[in-house]
Amino acid sequence: MRRILIIILFLIIGINAYSYDWPVKVFSHQHGINATLGEYRPGHFHNGVDINAADSTPVYSVVTDTMRTFDDPYGNHNNDGILTKDSVYWYIHLDQRVPDSTYIHAYTDSIGIIYTGEGHLHFREGLNGAHPIINPLRTGALAPYVDSTNPHVDSILFYRQGASTQLNNDSLNGKVDIVSIAGDTRTDATGHSAGHNVSVYRIGYEVKDTAGNTVKPYWEKVMFDSIPSSSYFSLVYADGSSDTHFRYYITNDVFNPVSNLKNRYWNTKQKVGEPDSVDADSIEEAKFKEIMLDFSLKYNIIK
Ligand SMILES: [Zn+2]
Repeated sequence: MRRILIIILFLIIGINAYSYDWPVKVFSHQHGINATLGEYRPGHFHNGVDINAADSTPVYSVVTDTMRTFDDPYGNHNNDGILTKDSVYWYIHLDQRVPDSTYIHAYTDSIGIIYTGEGHLHFREGLNGAHPIINPLRTGALAPYVDSTNPHVDSILFYRQGASTQLNNDSLNGKVDIVSIAGDTRTDATGHSAGHNVSVYRIGYEVKDTAGNTVKPYWEKVMFDSIPSSSYFSLVYADGSSDTHFRYYITNDVFNPVSNLKNRYWNTKQKVGEPDSVDADSIEEAKFKEIMLDFSLKYNIIK
């Protein structure tokens, strides 16, 4: 029997928010977003948003609080910054910082200026542990913010589970990693595209056969409301990812609290009546049998 596999990806990024103004002037106007939360960086997830700001632009605190200075541990002064006393708000790539322990009124006294050559403020909310790092573009945070750009799904590729062997679309069998190359674009001060690639906010997929029957129900676990543990890094991003080129493992259920459900593959030989992780002992008892497939790609966007 010939089946056609249809995979649908949903990608959502940033929704209106309304809680605190921007940390650079004009406070009540949207600013460009050069990078999003959770983006691939070598060995770690990007842990804030990059707000477009010219070198030497004054930066302001979004809360009234005592400020603390911190220096880049590697001595790279372009990565020096300021954080609030409770470590909730972080401002990185600052020069001419106020002294440590300065009491600052929100949106009144500058805490420093953008370090020459950076061209953006790295703004982070939260820290590891008690106050997890969270997405400043979520509803109720940086405002106003709208995103009128559409994400893109460039391709979906299939690999033997846990290996670099790429599989042909028409001969899938066994345990398969599904890798999607996808992205969004930077937004400018009006919420429209400013070019370049940024990471997406959320990814999910489903598999249907030619009759429209669901083979694998819609599944969604890669979502950047917060920064996952760094141990998940290589389960979210596949080999070949870079700062601007994102290859996502969309089959990984890495956030599932039940350890044996943290499948990092789609099992085309799933046993009838059993979870995804349980193989059939024979073709006859497999839920999906042999899957010869054509490949088509669709994605929907939810704003
Ligand atoms: Zn950054």
